[in-house]
Amino acid sequence: MAYPVTLLPGDGIGPEVAQAMKKCVEATGVAIAWDEQPVGEFAIKKYGTPLPDHVLDSIRKNKVAIKGPIVTPVGKGFRSVNVALRQALDLFACVRPCQYMEGTKSIAKGVDLVIFRENTEDLYAGIEFDLGTSDAKHLIQEINALSTRKIRDDSAISIKPISVFASRRIIKFAFDYAVKNNRRKVTAIHKANIMKFTDGLFLKTAREVAQEYQGRVEFEDVIVDNMCMQLVQRPEFFDVLVLPNLYGDIVSDLCAGLIGGLGIAPGANIGDTIALFEPVHGSAPKYAGKNKVNPTASILSGVLMLRHLKEEKAAERLEMAVRDVIKEGKFVTYDLKADRNDPTAVGTQEMAEAICRRIH
Ligand code: NAD
Repeated sequence: MAYPVTLLPGDGIGPEVAQAMKKCVEATGVAIAWDEQPVGEFAIKKYGTPLPDHVLDSIRKNKVAIKGPIVTPVGKGFRSVNVALRQALDLFACVRPCQYMEGTKSIAKGVDLVIFRENTEDLYAGIEFDLGTSDAKHLIQEINALSTRKIRDDSAISIKPISVFASRRIIKFAFDYAVKNNRRKVTAIHKANIMKFTDGLFLKTAREVAQEYQGRVEFEDVIVDNMCMQLVQRPEFFDVLVLPNLYGDIVSDLCAGLIGGLGIAPGANIGDTIALFEPVHGSAPKYAGKNKVNPTASILSGVLMLRHLKEEKAAERLEMAVRDVIKEGKFVTYDLKADRNDPTAVGTQEMAEAICRRIH
C-alpha cells in the first residue's frame, strides 16, 4: 500500500525542488500517495491565507509531510508559515544532518554533524510588540517598574521564552539520537554568560539530562559565539549539537556553508506523532522559475523521509545515487561546479534525472 504523504511545494524555488524530490523518491520504487497542497503565495491567491486549516488537517491525518521553502516577508506582512507549521503541529525537534560529500566545495572534509534545534519557543515564539502600540507602551511601563534596567520608550519588543519542558524535550531527543546512532558526544550551545535566566535554564537542563546518559554519551557546553569560530576552525571536533531556536537557525546555515552550501543541506521537523521534512534553505526568490538551483537539499530531505517511513534500503540507494552524481561532478547545478559560471552546469530537473538514473 502507498504511504500517504502531504506534499507542500511551497513558493519561490519550492515547487521546482519539490518536483525534483518527488521524481527521485518515486524512482526508488517506494509507493507514495502524495496529497499535494498549495501554501504560501499560491494559497493566498486561492484561499486568501498562506496556511489554510485544511493543510494542517491533511498533515495531521497523514502524519508525514514534506515541503519546499516558503517566503516570509521581512519586517512586515504575514508571519512565517514555516514557524506556524512547527508551532501548530508541535514539531518540537528540528533535525539537520550536515555531512561531508565528496565533490562538494566543502571547506572541511571531516564534517559529520547532526544539529538539533528547538523549534517551538525562544525569540521565534512570535510574541512581539510593535513600536508605538498601546501594548508595547503598557509592557515598557510594567518592565520599567519591575526592573532596575530601563527600556527606551521608542522600543519594539520581542519576548524570548525558554521553558524547562521544551529544553528538556529537545535535549533528551538529541541524547536519545546519540545513543541510538552510536554518536560520541552532545554539545549544548548557549549564551548563558549573558542571558543568565533563559539560556542559563537551557544549560542547567542540559547538564541535568547529560547526567542521565553518563558513561554512554559525552557532554560539553560551548558559548554560541565561540562555537561559531570553532565550527569554522575544527568542525570535525563536534558530533551532535543541541541549541535553542534562534542559535539553531543561525548555526544550521553556518554548518550548511561548511559542507558546501545551502543547496545540499536537508532537514526534518519532528514531533511526537508527526514528521515534516524540508531543506534548510529558503525560497531564493531570485532563482524562482529558472530551473537553476540545486535540488540536493530537497532530495536528501526525501531520504530522511524514507528512513522515517522505515524504507531504509530505498533511502540508502537514493543517498548513494546523490553522492555518486555529486562526486562525478558532471550533471550538477552551478553551485557545485568549481566555477559558478561554468556553462556545463545542468538545471534542477536535469540533476534530479541524473540522480534517478544512478539509483541501483
Ligand atoms: P535562501 O536560503 O532562500 O537563499 C539564500 C541564498 O542561498 C540564495 O540566494 C542562493 O544563493 C543560495 N541557495 C538557497 N537555496 C539554494 C539551492 N537549492 N541551490 C543553490 N543555492 C541555493 O535565504 P534568504 O534569501 O535569506 O530567504 C529567502 C526567503 O526564504 C525569505 O522569505 C525567507 O524568510 C524564506 N526562508 C524560508 C525557509 C523555509 O521555508 N523553511 C527557510 C529559510 C528562509
